[in-house]
Amino acid sequence: MDPPPRFVIEACEAAAMAKDAGLALTDLLPTLVGAAKPLARTPISRYHVGAVGLGPSGRIFLGVNLEFPGLPLHHSVHAEQFLATNLALHRERRLLAFAVSSTPCGHCRQFFQEIRDAPDIQIRVFPVDDPDQAPDPAFGPLSRLLPRRFGPDDLLDKEVPLLLEPHHNGLTFLTRSPNPDRGSSCNGFCDGPEADELAAAALEAANESHAPYSKCPSGVAIVDREGKVYKGSYAESAAYNPSLGPVQAALVAYVAGGGGGYDGIVGAVLVEKEGAVVRQENTARLLMGLVSPKCDFRVVHCRSG
Ligand SMILES: [Zn+2]
Repeated sequence: MDPPPRFVIEACEAAAMAKDAGLALTDLLPTLVGAAKPLARTPISRYHVGAVGLGPSGRIFLGVNLEFPGLPLHHSVHAEQFLATNLALHRERRLLAFAVSSTPCGHCRQFFQEIRDAPDIQIRVFPVDDPDQAPDPAFGPLSRLLPRRFGPDDLLDKEVPLLLEPHHNGLTFLTRSPNPDRGSSCNGFCDGPEADELAAAALEAANESHAPYSKCPSGVAIVDREGKVYKGSYAESAAYNPSLGPVQAALVAYVAGGGGGYDGIVGAVLVEKEGAVVRQENTARLLMGLVSPKCDFRVVHCRSG
């Protein structure tokens, strides 16, 4: 059996690849776009997009687009969103440069504004297997594609952490009432979600999520048949609509972590705040039910502080 595709290239290997090719590390990125593109999962459009990014650690990260038949198109994950999620999963705090097989759509130009110093991110559009599109001759700043940006600076103080920066949202599980007559402070999961490994992973993801606009962080953890756990953190956009839900983020972790078909996912837990103004539950249930109908989906509520 072939090994699963790799979505992260470690710094030493990337440096060796660049040396062998006689290229600067940044100029290695376009050469990897062709290998990234076929990893896309696009049952609706069959339009594959590959994005390859470089972080300050010297690691290289891949991103591809994901589509989910049976759901509205806005549930899709764009390659650039996959790339940003992949960076977050690996605690890479910035994106220095990326090459991508198609010109980024407006949605992705906007989503990337959540990354620190977004206007300075270097981008090179590098189509492969498409004779109708000429590649950019060189890298240039993202600001060229979005000159008058609306972004975090318009809404947040400078010290608020941005998408790839460390987040500590201070969420804890609701404390269960010692008196069973006092009802469901644990949201119907009275067998002890606090002790549940999957719920704990989802809480961790919620604590790392980027939700500075709604202040409604959330996270999802999924588990596959082999017991491997994948976490995804909700990621908001200043422009709201390009935000990436926690299930999508967890599915990115699943694909990037070598997961196969989504039906291999057997359990999922969503953690979000009780009474949140922005709630993920209904959408998360819908998406998980579609991609893996037999998956056991649970919701556990938490609170701040
Ligand atoms: Zn896009």
